[in-house]
Amino acid sequence: MQQVESEIVALDEQQEESRLAVLASTGILDTPPEPGYDAITRLAADYFQADAVLLGFADESRFWIKSCWGELIRELPRDRSIFEMIVAQDGPLVVSDASQHPKLKDCLLPLRKGNPSSFASAPVRSREGKILGTLTIFSSSLRLITMDELRILESLAEMAAGQLELRQLRNSIHRQAPAQTLRPRRNSSAVWPRKPDLRHALEQRQFVLYYQPEINLFTRRIVGLEALIRWNHPERGIISPDDFIPLAEESGLILPIGDWGLAEACHQIQKWCSEDPDHRSLRVCVNLSARQFARHGLADQVDALLRRFGLTSRQLGLEMTESSLIPDMHTALEVLSSLRRLGVALLMDDFGTGYSSLNHLHTFPFDILKIDRSFVARMTEGEQPVQIVRTIVELARVLGMDVVAEGIETAEQYELLQKLGCHYGQGFLIARPMPAEAVTRLLNLSGRILPDPEAVEALCY
Ligand code: C2E
Ligand code: MG
Ligand code: MG
Repeated sequence: MQQVESEIVALDEQQEESRLAVLASTGILDTPPEPGYDAITRLAADYFQADAVLLGFADESRFWIKSCWGELIRELPRDRSIFEMIVAQDGPLVVSDASQHPKLKDCLLPLRKGNPSSFASAPVRSREGKILGTLTIFSSSLRLITMDELRILESLAEMAAGQLELRQLRNSIHRQAPAQTLRPRRNSSAVWPRKPDLRHALEQRQFVLYYQPEINLFTRRIVGLEALIRWNHPERGIISPDDFIPLAEESGLILPIGDWGLAEACHQIQKWCSEDPDHRSLRVCVNLSARQFARHGLADQVDALLRRFGLTSRQLGLEMTESSLIPDMHTALEVLSSLRRLGVALLMDDFGTGYSSLNHLHTFPFDILKIDRSFVARMTEGEQPVQIVRTIVELARVLGMDVVAEGIETAEQYELLQKLGCHYGQGFLIARPMPAEAVTRLLNLSGRILPDPEAVEALCY
C-alpha cells in the first residue's frame, strides 16, 4: 500500500497553462449535473461504503465539484483541496489514517459525520494525460484500501475520464462541422425492406428463431440459450435482425413480431423439455425492444405464456438494452418490477454502450449483466480495456448480479475472462447461433457439456 509523503509542489507555469487549456476545451466547469457522473459517485459510495465521495475538476483557484455523494458542496479553494496532492503525486493517493498525515491539516475535507479518518483519491486524466480532476472517497473510520479496491477506484475515475472525453469530442464536432441532420432511413423507395414487406413476412411465417448457447466458462455446461430472430426470406435467404428490427421498431410491427418471438421461444422450451426433463434447468432468453416495455400488459402476457406452455418462470429470461428503457423510464420500471415478481430473469444487454449504464444498474432490478462484445473485443489490446472488464465484473459481483460476456471469439479472450472471474459467456468461439434442431442435436449428443468448437461445428452447421 502506497502512502504519500511527497512535498506538495505546484505545477510549473507552462504545465499549468496547457492543463488549463485542456480543461477549457472540455467545458466541464459550472455545468449542470449529469447522470453519468452521478452514477460514478454513487457507485463508488456503494462499493466502498464511503461516507462521502467527490468527483471534481480544478481550475486556477478552485476545485469545482461536478458530482458529490454525502455532503453537498459545490467547490473548495483549490489549494485547500486534495487536488494539489494528487497533482504533486501524479497518481492515486491512499491515506489510511489521515490524522497522522502532515499535509492534511490544511485541507478542507467534507464529511457530515465529523472528520474523515481515511480517504483514497484517483486522478481523472484527459486524453492527453493531464490531471484535470479527482475522484475521492472519504471514510469517517480508519480503513485500509486494498490494491484491488484501488484499481476499482482508478477504473471508476477512468470512466469519469471517458465521459469527459466524449464531451471533448462533442465540443470539437460542434466547432468543426456545420449542423447535420440525420437522413431518415426510408428516404428512398430503393431501400429494402419496407413496412409491407415486414407485414407480409409476418403473415407468411417467414421469421425463425436461432439459438446461441451460453455456457459456464469454467465447466462448459450450457446454462442457457439466447433466442435471436432471423428472417428466412424465400429469395434473399437468411436476413439478420440488424437489417429489419430498426424498421420493425419504427413502424410498430415490432409488437406483433415480438409477441410471435416470445410465444415461439416458449413453445420451443416446452418441446426441449418434453424430450428430456433435464432440460428444464435451461434458460432461454428473448430480446425485447422499447415498445414492448411501453405496454403495461407485458408481465401478464409473459405469465399467460408460461401457463400455456407449462413452464416455470426460471426457464425464461428477457434481455433489454438501456436505450430501450430510457424513452419511458417510469413505465419500464413498473413493467420490470412486475416481471421480477413473476420470477423471470432480467438481463441488461450490451452493457457499457449506453451513456449512464452505472446509473441504470441501480435503478432497474436486473439479475444478469451482459458485457457488450466491444469490450471483450478490445480486451487483448492492453491493460486498460482489461481493467474496465475487471471493474464491470467486480461491480456486478458487488451488486449481486451474474455476468455474461458477449462475443467471445478467441481463446485468449476466453482465458482472460476466466481469470477476471467472469463465469458465463457466449460467442462464436463457443458456438454460433443455430436453428432449434441443431440445438436439439447438440443437447442429445453431448448432454449439457459443450464439446470443443470443431465438434460443435460438425454437429450443428
Ligand atoms: P444482441 O442481443 O446483443 O445479440 C448478440 C448478437 O451478437 C447476435 O447478433 C449474435 O449473433 C452476435 N454474436 C454472438 N457471438 C458473437 C461473436 O463472437 N462475435 C460477433 N461479432 N458477434 C457475435 P444477431 O443475431 O445479428 O442480433 C443482433 C441484435 O438484434 C441482437 O443483439 C438484438 O439486439 C437484436 N435482436 C435479435 N433478435 C431479436 C428479437 O427477437 N427481438 C428484438 N427486439 N431484437 C432482437
Ligand atoms: Mg441479446
Ligand atoms: Mg448484446
